[in-house]
Amino acid sequence: MGLTEGRAPRTIWKSPAALIRALAPDHPVMVLDTDRLAATARRFLEGFPGMVTYAVKANPDRAVIRTLVRAGITGFDVASPAEIDLIGQLAPGAARHYHNPVRARGEIRHAVAAGMQSWSVDSQSELDKLLAELPPQSEIAARFKLPVAGAAYDFGAKFGATPDLAATLLRRIAAGGHRASLTFHPGTQCTDPAAWESYILAAAGIARAAGITLCRLNVGGGFPAHRLGAVPPQLEAIFARIDHATSRAFGRQRPGLVCEPGRGLCADAFALITRVKALRDGRAVFLNDGIYGGLTELPQIGNLDRIEVLDPEGRPRHGPPLPRPVFGPTCDSLDRLPGELPLPADLAEGDYLIFHGAGAYSTVTNTRFNGFGQMSRLFVKTVS
Ligand SMILES: *Cc1c(COP(=O)(O)O)cnc(C)c1O
Repeated sequence: MGLTEGRAPRTIWKSPAALIRALAPDHPVMVLDTDRLAATARRFLEGFPGMVTYAVKANPDRAVIRTLVRAGITGFDVASPAEIDLIGQLAPGAARHYHNPVRARGEIRHAVAAGMQSWSVDSQSELDKLLAELPPQSEIAARFKLPVAGAAYDFGAKFGATPDLAATLLRRIAAGGHRASLTFHPGTQCTDPAAWESYILAAAGIARAAGITLCRLNVGGGFPAHRLGAVPPQLEAIFARIDHATSRAFGRQRPGLVCEPGRGLCADAFALITRVKALRDGRAVFLNDGIYGGLTELPQIGNLDRIEVLDPEGRPRHGPPLPRPVFGPTCDSLDRLPGELPLPADLAEGDYLIFHGAGAYSTVTNTRFNGFGQMSRLFVKTVS
């Protein structure tokens, strides 16, 4: 993936600007602030009314996993044998929830041998496979979906049973001698607390229809990160809504809650430092990174507007904003950020654009397409 692990002794820069002054990097650099990551983890641990697990796929960087464990995270949502083994190695005591609802039989056997704490399922045929392989009293969560808006990206397009099918799956899970739970995912970067409430009310209806008392309710990921400067994530409002909705929907049958944030935990701890390779005829910006690198998601979920612009000496540019098309380095014409970005009129070749909050679905989806994608990962410490 072109990432360099920070081998000791590890340099920790005071800011992206300090790093730029010292290194003048020509390739993209992802900087991680582990204190900021630990602070976000504490915000979840203190605010969420249940167990907090980290969805490893958002950013499986070893420094991320280690920092989360030190901050008190005790569970991980994993989707593949490689993620199962990564967590087994870096967080040996932690719970692993295998919540990819489609698995090859060999993958199931690998996970059984590794000792998963929870599984999810959204179809009869995949449940047949689990019932044939899992030890008794395993926790299996039926994953359901609703037509709910509020997220940047619809997760129901691939996974999730209808509520009717979810009730059937719950009954079969219990009849098979396992612990029956429910789970859903409201869609990533979901800023609307009402989305969770709709799902929680539906979950109570599904459990009632099935005649099953749930072991646990996993309210998924989808928690928003700070992508737009003017819209900081309202995590506490979402936590409060989840807590209240669960009590209201389930009353005395209230199940234990679990969440599995990916983006909401890791995104804000990273900034992506990119460099202006060219300013074509004074207007169009060509960066050394784009949609095949660390900015993969932007065409699907929209621009990150927390952009800091520095000159080659690391000093801020102050020119008035000018809308500019921004292209990545490859020869593919799709390699462009959505719309136009307001960037300073005095922007120049060799300047740096720093995208703050770029830690989710970025390093891990970075490709080497067209010979680009060389990206290092370094450390900053911006909060004292
Ligand atoms: C991807 C994923 C998550 C994390 O989603 P975010 O939007 O990054 O929080 C959580 N649970 C499951 C099952 C997922 O597939």
